[in-house]
Amino acid sequence: MKKEKISIIVPCYNEEEAIPYFYEEIKKVAQEMNYVTFEYLFINDGSKDNTLEKLRELSRKDKKVRYISFSRNFGKEAAMYAGLKNVTGDYVAIMDADLQDPPSLLPKMYNYLKNEDYDTVGTRRVTRKGEPPIRSFFARMFYKIINKMSKVEMVDGARDYRLMKRQVVDAIIELKEYNRYSKGLFSFVGFNTKWIEYENVKRVAGETKWSFWKLFLYALDGITAFSVVPLAMASIMGLLFCFIAFVMIIVIICKTLIWGDPVSGWPSMVCIIFLVSGVQLFCIGILSQYLSKTYLETKNRSIYIIKETEKDNK
Ligand code: UDP
Ligand code: MG
Repeated sequence: MKKEKISIIVPCYNEEEAIPYFYEEIKKVAQEMNYVTFEYLFINDGSKDNTLEKLRELSRKDKKVRYISFSRNFGKEAAMYAGLKNVTGDYVAIMDADLQDPPSLLPKMYNYLKNEDYDTVGTRRVTRKGEPPIRSFFARMFYKIINKMSKVEMVDGARDYRLMKRQVVDAIIELKEYNRYSKGLFSFVGFNTKWIEYENVKRVAGETKWSFWKLFLYALDGITAFSVVPLAMASIMGLLFCFIAFVMIIVIICKTLIWGDPVSGWPSMVCIIFLVSGVQLFCIGILSQYLSKTYLETKNRSIYIIKETEKDNK
């Protein structure tokens, strides 16, 4: 019988230091799992260091190593999408290059898909050890908020590290949206998911590519991509303020009729003007978030652009 193939997608952005460690580690796991064949697809997401050179070298040495190099940095989401579209395996895993997603979990994940009725195995960190506490706090808040707002469940601590069957991969690449938020997309497509938990692991080399600000914007992307509750909130707030204004008008009319109209109260007036215009701007802000996403979506721009692959390196 022909052996089944597992494809590993590895998004890499400035990972020249981590790639050699990663390759050694994944090779060990591949040797251990000799009942399947492997394919490694590295995505060079416009790295500014020698990542591409490292990948060229590896792919010359080992024909299981394939790579796709983007024309610039398109972001991890784009890299994952490019990977999913271009792999050929019966099973597909996504893994970070920094070994924060332990390759040693693969045999276990494969067993779940093979012997039990699961279509995809996801991983989640149960601890956030080694992460700044403030970041953990905001991460927790984000999951609380988004799960209240969205029907699609986002699992707290879920990593992008997962192994899935071909069928799931095909479902994901069917979703061609430009604003990609994979954690949501994976839940959106459904299928039976097994969650494996593990402790946070520190990066083997290099440093994280996510600043607090980048994560914050990514969190907003997640919310706008999977919930329209903020839009409803804007309308509700508008209604509430109309109601308050209506009551106040009646109160003022009555007051004027009973006590006349002494010239006073402008400080309160200024406060009200500030408050109401603040609320208006906030609501317009929410609207423009969605508008801008729709704008980008309708442009239908390519999610990534390939400059070079292993086929150009022969
Ligand atoms: N990454 C990428 N493009 C980017 C940012 C990150 O392909 O614009 C890759 C990066 O090389 C790594 C993975 O995404 O393999 C996760 O990034 P990182 O380890 O910096 O994130 P963290 O684990 O700290 O959340
Ligand atoms: Mg990492």
